[in-house]
Amino acid sequence: MRSHKRTGTVYLVGAGPGDPGLITVKGLSAIRTADALVYDRLVHPSLVDEASAGAERFYAGKAPGSVSIEQEEIQDLLIQLARRHERVVRLKGGDPFVFGRGGEEALALREAGIAFEVIPGISSAIAAPAYAGIPVTHRALARGFTVVTGHTCRPDDLPDWAALARASTLVVLMGLGKLDEIARGLIEHGISPKLPVAAVSCATTAQQETVRGTLATIAGACAHLEGPATIVIGEVARMHDDLAWFTAAGPSIDRIRTPFPEHIVALSA
Ligand code: SAH
Repeated sequence: MRSHKRTGTVYLVGAGPGDPGLITVKGLSAIRTADALVYDRLVHPSLVDEASAGAERFYAGKAPGSVSIEQEEIQDLLIQLARRHERVVRLKGGDPFVFGRGGEEALALREAGIAFEVIPGISSAIAAPAYAGIPVTHRALARGFTVVTGHTCRPDDLPDWAALARASTLVVLMGLGKLDEIARGLIEHGISPKLPVAAVSCATTAQQETVRGTLATIAGACAHLEGPATIVIGEVARMHDDLAWFTAAGPSIDRIRTPFPEHIVALSA
């Protein structure tokens, strides 16, 4: 009887928040040695270009609000690719397990008997505040931080949020379109309208923009802003006023962004 060829491994790789230089060494190595690459909308094109010429590439991007490839189709694609290839990379923006549906993909792979590894990435939940000069925790201002999605936000979700906002910094992903609702809800639940807020869009890229305001003013101030944006709600948001450091045109950023170091070699098997 002929023995079956072993299936390959799927690497769930975090691409980082935007600047391709913020991928991990291990993540970059996985891309370079991939036989197939399935990547998302917010992944920088130059990271996709790091794959070898012979690698199969699949765009699995989902533009907000538009019809696109379903999550189940992506999972099926990963399974099919792993049956044909040794190394399949699933490249996702930020960290694959922070609102990236990486958990669902890992479960589907496990169920199909496909081996997988997770290569974490720098999440925009931390990188966007950092690039705006906002530490998510700071002595005397915030002892912790909570990362939530604004996407599924409903008015009846907000009481919990208000409790969280009293205790720690709130970092909201996918919240730009709901900013007005979120801010009003928090104020209605007793949070001061003067609480500092910052919205950081296109963080770590040349298009980065930070808008500062308070719970009362932030929605109006962000009317012009395009996503992706990370919202920081809490006393630490005002530290942007003193600590903003990132200028997209700055020479230090240009120097470290490209090219990638060539000596980064293949992942050990
Ligand atoms: N897994 C990703 C998050 C996916 S959800 C991560 O860990 O970063 C997508 C949301 O992430 C966007 O709606 C936005 O809130 C945030 N985001 C992604 N890239 C961003 C960027 N460059 N600047 C600011 N926010 C970003």
